[in-house]
Amino acid sequence: MSEPAIQPPGHFGIRPDKETFLAEENPFEAMMERFDHAAQLLNLDPGLYKVLRNPEKQIIVSVPVLRDSGELEVYTGYRVLYNTSRGPAKGGIRFDLNVTLEEVKALAAWMTWKCALVNIPFGGSKGGVVCDPTTMSMGELERVTRRYTAGIIETLGPDSDVPAPDVNTNERVMAWIMDTYSMHHRHTVTAVVTGKPVAMGGSLGRREATGRGCMFVTREALAKLGMGLKGARVAVQGFGNVGSVAADLMAKEGARIVAVSDKSGALHNPEGLDIAELIKWVKEHRQLAGYPKAEAFSKEQLLTVDCDVLVPAATENVITRKNAPHIKAKIICEGANGPTTAAADEILEKKGVFVIPDILANAGGVTVSYFEWVQDRGGYFWDEETVNRRLESIMVRAFNEVAATTEKYKVNTRIASYIVAVDRVAAMHRLRGMYA
Ligand code: NAD
Repeated sequence: MSEPAIQPPGHFGIRPDKETFLAEENPFEAMMERFDHAAQLLNLDPGLYKVLRNPEKQIIVSVPVLRDSGELEVYTGYRVLYNTSRGPAKGGIRFDLNVTLEEVKALAAWMTWKCALVNIPFGGSKGGVVCDPTTMSMGELERVTRRYTAGIIETLGPDSDVPAPDVNTNERVMAWIMDTYSMHHRHTVTAVVTGKPVAMGGSLGRREATGRGCMFVTREALAKLGMGLKGARVAVQGFGNVGSVAADLMAKEGARIVAVSDKSGALHNPEGLDIAELIKWVKEHRQLAGYPKAEAFSKEQLLTVDCDVLVPAATENVITRKNAPHIKAKIICEGANGPTTAAADEILEKKGVFVIPDILANAGGVTVSYFEWVQDRGGYFWDEETVNRRLESIMVRAFNEVAATTEKYKVNTRIASYIVAVDRVAAMHRLRGMYA
């Protein structure tokens, strides 16, 4: 049998742990509840409320694929465009057995709010194919990608819907999507996807963008508490793309990373871990476990370790009503999507923890995806310093807007983020008028 083309979930992306997921609540329901709260405070008119609670377009396609064995398999693929009032839809594509239409819808809504919050001219979308890429050869994966792309090709396009990598998809998959789309259109269209290899129109700084964004907003939150990154004690859950980069960049700004974890376990050193060395270790050993120069402790302990900043950058629903009362961090920077349950949110608010919510904290990734799209369309590429500087300016602006909204509405930062985002999407609808 040929080598699986994609690493098991946890390398390119992660799945919610089923038990935790079912134990407290559905993160997507929780997200829509927060939307409802924001809509209420904004006094959204009932018609517009109905429009914003429903996806614009939902596509279901059958994806026939020839397996290497000669057998024909048919997978199901989805693409949901939630809202495109502010611009082309933007959202990742995941290949996973757990993909459902409900989940894709919710994730597309999430993208809508995130793009509006950082004020980039995109709407929100998401897509997925119900399949297990870990059992596929590279050839099979390519055929799934190309046939799915062909199935949804009418909605794709730099002006209509722009995919990106998500769980179990990567820059290789984006390159195939770009090629398939370009072959159908008879010319090369690099701007149809983001998260591409840099050599084919990807952006410098994209890989680090989400972790870098986390670093910028954490710095701003610390400043609000009269602190700085220098000397701040930080614990990071998840040592993948987001967590390892956030830890590395914060350490470079003088923070002391006192604990990190991944699926294999957690490491602790109150004096500060050597993040550059840990990144090398993980490259070689593919996991944190076994690293000899730190005390190993349980993954659960990481969340309640003594620190100033906690960065959950692994998966959903990890901060729950059970562990929230024991969290010692003053700031939580949500690198992951949906790491905090609504019940935990209430506890954290009472404790006075400063939460930088996911739609703000991890928006650095989609922001640099936007830069990639701009560069592809302009045919002019920026150096990395320009990318990082422009990312910083967008992240700091969004942070300040959320902080001001928190004051104005006397709400927590999460609801404030939804207020800013929903208000922007609603404003666009009002300006355009409703074609109804
Ligand atoms: P990744 O697969 O590169 O890394 C995930 C890390 O989390 C791995 O180190 C894995 O071992 C670890 N992990 C998984 N379960 C864990 C657990 N129970 N305890 C401790 N560690 C655990 O994924 P990523 O790209 O870094 O994404 C992480 C999160 O950030 C996800 O929620 C993702 O949706 C979100 N996010 C990512 C981006 C991006 O640009 N990569 C952008 C926005 C949001």
